Amino acid sequence: MTTIADRLANAHLRITQAAQKAARDPSDIHLLAVSKTKPISQIQAAYAAGQRQFGENYVQEGEQKVKQLATQCPEIIWHFIGPLQSNKSKIVAENFDWMHTLSRDKIAKRLNEQRPAGKAPLNVCIQINISNESSKSGCSVEQALQLATDIKELPNLCLRGIMAIPSAECSPEQQQHELSAMQTLYQTLQQQHSSIDTLSMGMSNDLEAAVTHGSTMVRIGTAIFGARDYS
Ligand SMILES: *Cc1c(COP(=O)(O)O)cnc(C)c1O
Repeated sequence: MTTIADRLANAHLRITQAAQKAARDPSDIHLLAVSKTKPISQIQAAYAAGQRQFGENYVQEGEQKVKQLATQCPEIIWHFIGPLQSNKSKIVAENFDWMHTLSRDKIAKRLNEQRPAGKAPLNVCIQINISNESSKSGCSVEQALQLATDIKELPNLCLRGIMAIPSAECSPEQQQHELSAMQTLYQTLQQQHSSIDTLSMGMSNDLEAAVTHGSTMVRIGTAIFGARDYS
């Protein structure tokens, strides 16, 4: 039987091997453990194995976990990586350290106003709809350039980078195209905004390809915690 500690070690190994293949420094790539739908006990097990950054997709579930683990696992850095409706933005502003799915100026302004005074600025990534499909969330490249400029005016947000969920089942050519479009946009934005250091890209199935295309943060759920049960 493999444990969460084993699977975390394996995820780190995959990152290291992919980085070496791409002539990159493995320490430039952060592992975000995506714990959505998983019980507190599994987060504690990952924490005991040294994991510190966790990602959650659902506002209420995330808030509960943040509160329950505040004393026991004080070093956790919490990332919100799910879709966010504006009426729930306050919960994210008050509980999370990062938010990866920003795509509207209106939500940015709300998060900025709702961030509690005593906390560091909320780290944000702009979500990019890289295949430009209307069914998907995220900004176009043009919208992202504008939103990045708007975020700079908001003192309680810190613009850290961009995030994408590339098409799940697509040809290697399409995958390549999407990942390199993200890499190009990341480089462009980095030249315009000195706070940008994060390309949030890569999940259990495309970690290696994402690292090849410059990802600095991979978001791994299944490969660490096993398949999710949504029933
Ligand atoms: C669920 C989720 C992940 C993790 O996906 P796995 O395939 O389980 O690794 C990563 N990013 C986002 C935005 C997710 O919703």
